Amino acid sequence: MKIAVLPGDGIGTEIVEQAVRVLRALELAFEIEQAPVGGAAYEAHGHPLPEPTLTLAKAADAILFGAVGDWKYDKLERALRPEQAILGLRKQLGLFANLRPALCYRQLTDASSLKADLVAGLDILIIRELTGDIYFGQPRGRRVATDGHFPGAQEAFDTMRYSRPEIERIAHVAFQAARKRSRKVTSVDKANVLETSQLWRDVVTAVLALYPDVELDHMYVDNAAMQLVRAPKSFDVIVTGNLFGDILSDEAAMLTGSIGMLPSASLDVRNKGLYEPSHGSAPDIAGQGIANPLATILSAAMMLRYSLNQPEAAGRIERAVDAVLSAGLRTADIWSPNTTKVGTREMGDAVVAALRGKALTRS
Ligand code: NAD
Repeated sequence: MKIAVLPGDGIGTEIVEQAVRVLRALELAFEIEQAPVGGAAYEAHGHPLPEPTLTLAKAADAILFGAVGDWKYDKLERALRPEQAILGLRKQLGLFANLRPALCYRQLTDASSLKADLVAGLDILIIRELTGDIYFGQPRGRRVATDGHFPGAQEAFDTMRYSRPEIERIAHVAFQAARKRSRKVTSVDKANVLETSQLWRDVVTAVLALYPDVELDHMYVDNAAMQLVRAPKSFDVIVTGNLFGDILSDEAAMLTGSIGMLPSASLDVRNKGLYEPSHGSAPDIAGQGIANPLATILSAAMMLRYSLNQPEAAGRIERAVDAVLSAGLRTADIWSPNTTKVGTREMGDAVVAALRGKALTRS
């Protein structure tokens, strides 16, 4: 099992270091190789996604990614900015399915802005199509309007577009993921208004025929946004397009209260994937040793489950994280009174100790 490790910038290096320690503590046969990406790669090679990094990512079975970006690169031309590395990797590796769990640990329910009973035990998985939709559809641009409400005025336009195979493959990802969970999928669209969504609904329904053991319902996106804050635990797997998924996955992330806890995966057709925390490089706290490494450690667990076919090892990591939280250890972002504040490395130490079955005590 070859893992490419791309720490990136800011807190990326600090949090990835802890995730790699956790992976090594599993004592499985991993080959782990590291390469620069983002601003770090720009400094070393003059490009955020240099050839050696891309070659390593292509050769690996899975990629563990930290985060990229720093304000000091904001003045670079767009093609050289750190964030282009992640877009480049998605494109070059054909990563079309983005999986974002929103999991609210019972130990952290106070961190949510919703009432504790609404989010305690929340465990939903949002599957967002990542390479199509209005973000990439052509034509797009600006022009002078020849019709509409204001002929002669400047206007801008984008094209919402999905093809049948694009919808089919993301529907398969959702139904297969549901089989690893409670076999319930909600497909979110706006089929009452959009042609694209009507095709989406028809195709997802057709693919369901291959998964008779999975339950499917459809929901309009405006209702889904409402239900996510009204009764989030009524969902299990949500599958949706790029635009709706972008918005709903951030909404769901906030239900859990802490971005420092949320992993993510982006998969290709063969389940090869890039795994990264849902947050960015947090330049405001970089180098201070206080970043929460748990989102990255949980991303490594997702990597074991979805790309490396090691569900048992994934479960071991997830249980270790649960044990650390139960022992009252918290990084600053999830700290609350009566818990013990620890730094990035101490949190990594605690997860490794829990993996090895050592009893955790508050220091
Ligand atoms: P951010 O997610 O980096 O930070 C937002 C806030 O959350 C900050 O206050 C930060 O300190 C805090 N935070 C984030 N992760 C944390 C963690 N693990 N532990 C504790 N606190 C944490 O978002 P931002 O500030 O908008 O962006 C900073 C940089 O990251 C930008 O350059 C942006 O482009 C980049 N970014 C990269 C990715 C990526 O690599 N995939 C994603 C989002 C943003």
